[in-house]
Amino acid sequence: MGDNSGIEWTDATWNPTRGCSRISPGCTNCYAERQAARMDVPGGAYQGLLDHTKAGRPRWNGQVRLVESQLDLPIRWTKPRRIFVDSMSDLFHEGLPVEAIARVFAVMVRATKHTFQVLTKRAARMQKLLSDVEFWRLVQRKHDEQRGAPGCPSLAADLHAYPLKRIWLGVSVEDQQRADERIPLLLQTPAAVRFVSAEPLLGPVDIRRFLWPVHDQWPSPYRTPEEARAAGAVVTRHRQALVSAAREFVDWVIVGAESGSGARPMDETWVRSLRDQCRDAGSLFFFKQSLDGGGKKVSLPVLDGKRHAEFPA
Ligand code: SF4
Repeated sequence: MGDNSGIEWTDATWNPTRGCSRISPGCTNCYAERQAARMDVPGGAYQGLLDHTKAGRPRWNGQVRLVESQLDLPIRWTKPRRIFVDSMSDLFHEGLPVEAIARVFAVMVRATKHTFQVLTKRAARMQKLLSDVEFWRLVQRKHDEQRGAPGCPSLAADLHAYPLKRIWLGVSVEDQQRADERIPLLLQTPAAVRFVSAEPLLGPVDIRRFLWPVHDQWPSPYRTPEEARAAGAVVTRHRQALVSAAREFVDWVIVGAESGSGARPMDETWVRSLRDQCRDAGSLFFFKQSLDGGGKKVSLPVLDGKRHAEFPA
């Protein structure tokens, strides 16, 4: 964890919590679990967080804890960064108390120089918590405690009603089932920037209805990108109408192949399809990694003659 992350879509990782448990097929070769197993030794950072008793490699045992010594790390980082929150855990894991999650959010609110990228597989808990003004009241209390002084009296209400532009919320989606389960919950979660990480991508995924959502009260006459284009409309301008009308959609899609021992293959046609879905809807697309013929990781691979590394503004 730390500064100068090797993860292509971020600058730094920050792990204020440790521990997890597997929840879906994307977890089968969990990189964090492998790393943590080496540090599950007496006095080690991950002591007691893995089960070594079953056959095969050690597994997360479902215990999750807040790491006090890591909590204020972003406050100490002076240069602005994009920060991937909990690259080695899941901030919305069911084993983590609400108070701990609120303390992490309080740091994100306080660290105004940075942009935070919060990625989860527990979309239901994220949606439930972040939609609840009581959660934001708790964040406000933790914020004031951390500062040692009261902040703006309307902070909780403001954070609830106007999500911060520098806290991006995302869900991991490895296949169609997980896309259909998690993305609707992401769209129901208050956020200024929403993203999907399709890594490891394990099959073809169609997310067009989340990139260009159709609502009963449509803010423009075009119900699909094709209709807009056929009418000569500029797709990005149409999306702006969605933004103005406070419609919810996925802003940014990251795609990557699994890497490391036992990596499952990713078909390039699945990547091409997601690229085209993003292009048609005017969404941002980031192709993070693939494997070469020898199974070696390729960072920011070329797809049809081009690298794709777009970011939300
Ligand atoms: S949610 Fe993430 S950290 Fe947790 S087991 Fe799955 S892949 Fe690993």
